[in-house]
Amino acid sequence: MYPATDGLLVATMNELARPALSVVAPCYNEQDVLPEFLRRVGAVLDSLGGNSEIVLVDDGSRDRTWETMTALAAADSRIVAVRLMRNHGHQLALTAGLSVCRGERILIIDADLQDPPELLPDMMVLMDGVDGEAGADVVYGQRRQRDGESLFKRATAATFYRLINRLTDVDIPADTGDFRLVSRRVLDLLLAMPERHRFIRGMVAWIGGRQVPLLYDRHARVAGESKYPLSKMIRFAADAVTAFSVVPLMASMTIGWVMAGVGFGFFVYSIVGWLMDANLPGWTSIMAALGLLGGMQFLMLGVIGAYLGRLYDQNKGRPLFMIRDIVGGPK
Ligand code: UDP
Ligand code: MG
Repeated sequence: MYPATDGLLVATMNELARPALSVVAPCYNEQDVLPEFLRRVGAVLDSLGGNSEIVLVDDGSRDRTWETMTALAAADSRIVAVRLMRNHGHQLALTAGLSVCRGERILIIDADLQDPPELLPDMMVLMDGVDGEAGADVVYGQRRQRDGESLFKRATAATFYRLINRLTDVDIPADTGDFRLVSRRVLDLLLAMPERHRFIRGMVAWIGGRQVPLLYDRHARVAGESKYPLSKMIRFAADAVTAFSVVPLMASMTIGWVMAGVGFGFFVYSIVGWLMDANLPGWTSIMAALGLLGGMQFLMLGVIGAYLGRLYDQNKGRPLFMIRDIVGGPK
C-alpha cells in the first residue's frame, strides 16, 4: 500500500520494490483531458516496457476529476489516484504526487497534454547518456514554440525569466515549465527542501548536477482552460523571486544612497540660495522631495513585508499538503 505522507517531506521509504519509472501529474478540474492523457501516457509506457506507475493528484477539483481518476485506476493497476483535502495549488499538488511516487526515475508532466508524453523515450536516452557521454540527472523540456498561448502570456513569461536570472545566482533556464525527467537522487533532494512557497523548476535547477535540455514544441491544451490567470502568475513570480533572491531587500540600500545624493544636492542648493538672498518659497522642491521619499519608503516597506510574510508562513511549519485518499496501484 501507499503510505500517506501528509506533507512530511522525508524521502518515502516503502517495502514494495521501486518501479523503474513514475509519471506524476497534478490535476485541477481536468475531467475532460484525463482519459486522453492516460491513453497517451499508457501507450508511451507500453512502448518503453518495464515497471511503471502513474501518480495522479486531484488538487481539490470541483468537477468529476476524482471520479474519473478512480474509475480509470480501477481499470489499470499502474494508476495511483491521490486526492488532496482541498485545492493546494499547482506546485504543492505536484509536491504531494512526488512524495507519493516511488519510481527510480520520475517524469513530471501537466495533465492537459500541453507537453507531449511521447518525448519520454528521448528523455530516457538522454538520462542514460548518449555516445559514451555521461548520463543526466535531470532532462528538462525546453519550449521551442508555444501554440495556443497568447502573445501576452509569452511576453510576460519572457520578461519573467530575464528578470529572475538577473536577480538570482541560480541559472534557471528560460522557456521551461515543470515538464522534466528527474532521477530518484534529485527527487529525494527536492523533497528534502521544506519550503512552502515552492518554485519547483528553480529548486531543481538549484540542485545542480548534470541537467540537459530537450527542445520541443508546446501545444495548446487538449481540453479545459488554463488555471493560471494573471493574478496567479504574479503570485507565482513573486514566490520565485523571493525564494531565490534577496536582491530586492538590498535594493533599499541603493535607493537610499541615491536619495541621500539628491537630498545633499537640495541642501547645497538651498544654502547657496540663502547666501545669495534669493530663496524662493520652495514649495515645489519640498513637495517633490517629500513625494519621492514617501514613495520609496512605502515601496521598500512592501518589499520587506513580502519577505516577512513568507518567513511567517514558513515558520508556522504547517504540512505542505494534506492527503485525503490514495486509491489504486498494485494490490
Ligand atoms: N493545477 C493544479 N492545481 C491548481 C492549478 C493547476 O493541480 O490549482 C494543474 C493543472 O491541472 C495542470 C497543471 O497544474 O495539470 C498546469 O496548470 P495549467 O495548465 O492551468 O497552467 P498553464 O499551462 O496554463 O500555465
Ligand atoms: Mg497548461
